[in-house]
Amino acid sequence: MSEWSAHSLDCNCLGRRHFLKLASAATVVGINGAAFFLTDSARADALTKELRDKLTPEQIIQAMQNGNKRFRRGERKDRNYLREQKASAKGQYPAATLLSCIDSRAPAEVIMDLGIGDIFNCRIAGNVRSSDVLGSMEFACKLAGAKVALVMGHTACGAIKGAIDNAELGNLTGLLAKIKPAIEATTYTGERSAKNYGFVDAVGRKNVELTVAGIRKDSPILAELEAKGTIKITGAMYNVETAAVEFFD
Ligand SMILES: [Zn+2]
Repeated sequence: MSEWSAHSLDCNCLGRRHFLKLASAATVVGINGAAFFLTDSARADALTKELRDKLTPEQIIQAMQNGNKRFRRGERKDRNYLREQKASAKGQYPAATLLSCIDSRAPAEVIMDLGIGDIFNCRIAGNVRSSDVLGSMEFACKLAGAKVALVMGHTACGAIKGAIDNAELGNLTGLLAKIKPAIEATTYTGERSAKNYGFVDAVGRKNVELTVAGIRKDSPILAELEAKGTIKITGAMYNVETAAVEFFD
């Protein structure tokens, strides 16, 4: 990313204020992504369709990375949730859809400093996919225009530990069964138990990789959007100890 875009994404992207100021400046320089970001550090109250549509998947991922850096520094955007709520009440134009875990320590909007209207976030234990999840992501990308489909796992995941331990409980048994292929597929030389966090995190990472591959396989709609370059499907791991989100590519 060039300096201007990194700076501007920090200032403008995914949660802005003073949109009218930005819009009038954009009129002067022309409506394109670069010009938008070059204008100034003005912000709108919520992501607009016009701005979202100008962003590339790479810029959106960069904005999420920038937000995570702010979170790790103990900073966050000077945002006003009530203004974001009001600005997005009549329409939403989120930039990304996430599939992430229900873990209380891994709320994507907080750890990547995102605001109301910025992302569609599917949260389910172990960030496993199902036809309902894929349907949600297809809605987000094909119908609502989101440009990134991100599967975000995290370290020390209880669902991964449960799958390794063959835990059984009501409907949870079936959910954990969806993680088991990742256990088999994980190459690991140390102790393969839920007590070994190194192994748990290796399985968590493999689970994200397999889920990303599974999305491409089981959703021709999302695979086609990716093949055309409209969206990017990728994975990430959130480290609950360091607070860092590591994007896979
Ligand atoms: Zn988890």
